[in-house]
Amino acid sequence: MILGEQVWGVGIVRNHAPWQGWGHILLRLGFKTGSGSRNPAKELYVALKFPIYLDNAASTRCDPRVVEAMLPYFTEHFGNGGSRSHSFGWKAEEAVEAARDSAAALIGAQSKEIVFTSGATESNNLAIRGAASMYARNPSGSTARGHIVTSMIEHKAVLDPCKRLQREGFEVTFLRPAADGLITRAMVEEALRADTILVSIMWANNEIGTVNEIPQIGELCKSREIVFHSDGTQWVGKMPTDVEGAGVDLLSWSSHKIYGPKGTAGLFVRRRKPRIRLEPLVDGGGQERGMRSGTQNVTGIVGFGRACELARAEMEADGTRLLKLRRKLERELMQRVESVQLNGHAERRLPHLTNLSFAFVEGESLMMGIKDIACSSGSACTSASLEPSYVLKSLGVGDEMAHSSLRLSLGRWSSEEEVDYAAGAIAKAVDHLRSMSPLYDLHKEGIDISKIQWAHH
Ligand code: PMP
Repeated sequence: MILGEQVWGVGIVRNHAPWQGWGHILLRLGFKTGSGSRNPAKELYVALKFPIYLDNAASTRCDPRVVEAMLPYFTEHFGNGGSRSHSFGWKAEEAVEAARDSAAALIGAQSKEIVFTSGATESNNLAIRGAASMYARNPSGSTARGHIVTSMIEHKAVLDPCKRLQREGFEVTFLRPAADGLITRAMVEEALRADTILVSIMWANNEIGTVNEIPQIGELCKSREIVFHSDGTQWVGKMPTDVEGAGVDLLSWSSHKIYGPKGTAGLFVRRRKPRIRLEPLVDGGGQERGMRSGTQNVTGIVGFGRACELARAEMEADGTRLLKLRRKLERELMQRVESVQLNGHAERRLPHLTNLSFAFVEGESLMMGIKDIACSSGSACTSASLEPSYVLKSLGVGDEMAHSSLRLSLGRWSSEEEVDYAAGAIAKAVDHLRSMSPLYDLHKEGIDISKIQWAHH
């Protein structure tokens, strides 16, 4: 709420947030009269839908405009895009090709350079494994098949195919990021060898939002004639992307992170300067130029295409608005709560994402205390295990601070009221947990906890 010409004061009187469904905040607002003097305060209810969704880096709500575009392709135009002999097939093919144009336009590519897949996981696997087998130095089975450079903070959908290739005879360098989470051109350059065949570095990190030096790394790879793949899942559709300017040869991104349906994604495969060839993972009917056989997911692709179109038109306005909201969220939390640490880079970061550690508080307990806010914690990322996040650990964040982290990610429907509510609720929950923490008491007394010698039995 902005104080301005008409409002002289605002305060939260009461908030009522059930865990599911709708809740409200009761606000007290002071309005000015026409002449600028103060009228008595009035109370106003603001409705909020609970739980508040602050986990847009995990997945996003499908935009209703996307759903609308998809609907006719379930029931009316349900043909197989591969059926050449009738109008049902033509209609489906036409829609898939229109979506390919929209996907290509979003990243500055040619339509023929887009391969539709089932998710960024598949796009990453196809790019990495497909390029590795095509550009391997020696035939399968022999040792020293080639060298690959990637980073320790990639998503598992990059790390695991790289590890598989390691078992198959490739050598892989996993670069450690700087303490602020960045992978730089200099780091990649230092790791390159005469037998390096592939570099795979994510555009922006999914846990901390840091943005790597992609155009610089692209230029480096081009000058050494090394294939360059980037996992753009968290970047594309949120920030302007140009595959030419960035010098990427292969780029993955996913529909469900950009307000499209799940189960659909894109892989950009460069066709000129140089033409990149991939060994397919799935053989069959030869769809997607032979790189990804199988009947196309026409409805999903139509939705993905519409999501790309909307992203292209709205990303600038969305990004500006979300950056303001994120800054407000961080500011409010830092003002209300002491000993908060920002994980990642303060500036080179996605506009809608923040990762904060609240010292002396366990992330999982904190999440239990804010059940009306949906977000992620640095300990639960690999679900079943309570290992602290490998991303935070490779930045040098200690186990304690990694365990006490929250990732909050805003999206197209995040509102200022939601951010205000979330900041208040998180601050309250942190205060409550700290009030029960003996370590926090020691800290308040000025004792450096890291220097305490604990007795071991
Ligand atoms: N890469 C990154 C950086 C991601 O954030 C994700 C999704 N968490 C993926 C890959 C996997 O994407 P998908 O869910 O589309 O398979």
